[in-house]
Amino acid sequence: MHVIPDGGVPLVPNVGIVSGSRGTLVVDTGMGPRNGQVVRRHAERLAGNRQVFLTLTHFHPEHGYGAQAFDQGVVTVYNRAQLEELRQKGAAYLELFKTFGSGVAEQLDGVELVEPELVYDASAELDLGGRTAQLLSWGLAHTAGDQVVFLPDRRVLFTGDLVESECFAIFPWFPPDDVDVDGDRWIAVLEELERLEPEIVVPGHGPLGGAEVIVAAREYLQLLRSETRRLFDAGASEDDAAAELDLSMRALHPDWAQPEWIDFGVRCFYVARAGER
Ligand SMILES: [Zn+2]
Repeated sequence: MHVIPDGGVPLVPNVGIVSGSRGTLVVDTGMGPRNGQVVRRHAERLAGNRQVFLTLTHFHPEHGYGAQAFDQGVVTVYNRAQLEELRQKGAAYLELFKTFGSGVAEQLDGVELVEPELVYDASAELDLGGRTAQLLSWGLAHTAGDQVVFLPDRRVLFTGDLVESECFAIFPWFPPDDVDVDGDRWIAVLEELERLEPEIVVPGHGPLGGAEVIVAAREYLQLLRSETRRLFDAGASEDDAAAELDLSMRALHPDWAQPEWIDFGVRCFYVARAGER
């Protein structure tokens, strides 16, 4: 197993490359065609004459918008929900990310949203030759089409943005344009991931670790949910709840990256609580 680490750089994901005797699977491409080319060349060096496969953890630009570099000779595999999400929201996310600064816009220059060769429903297994890669999905959580990749033989789990390490959970809660994120389901999915008993967890962003990385991510989401519910039930406004929890969560995890996502998470849980009442 090989990981191209994110180096702690925002909008750079951890990219995985795993090989069996006959096949090499790439998990995520990085953002844009040039990064995709770098990942592909790296994968081909490791693959030698094995067949190269590509899959994505989800449709977000920094994870999958280098897929066009994996054109000829590579077999691409996504789950159906992810493909549908790419079709529905891919172009809008491309425009959104281009507003994140000139460096990002430069990487996204020339992006083409390409579709996979193979599409599966629910879950799939990829036989790489003496090694199976399980492609597992539980539906809506961080996105509508999240997928993890699990290698049972080495108990390695690639989680995409379902799990971040030393980094706050990324809630793409952008009403009214995109509300396809569900904190309750997300917590339930993390419990499923814990049941896989992984020994090596490769998060979407942040340092690699063991199962404790998933536990920390789940405990954060559970605390964010219970605190949001407490404030909602006490009559706090959405803005007041977001402001208060932004402070308290930063204080709890002063060394975690991307605290700006706390606010989005509170708002997502707040609206969910309002829907229950
Ligand atoms: Zn994401």
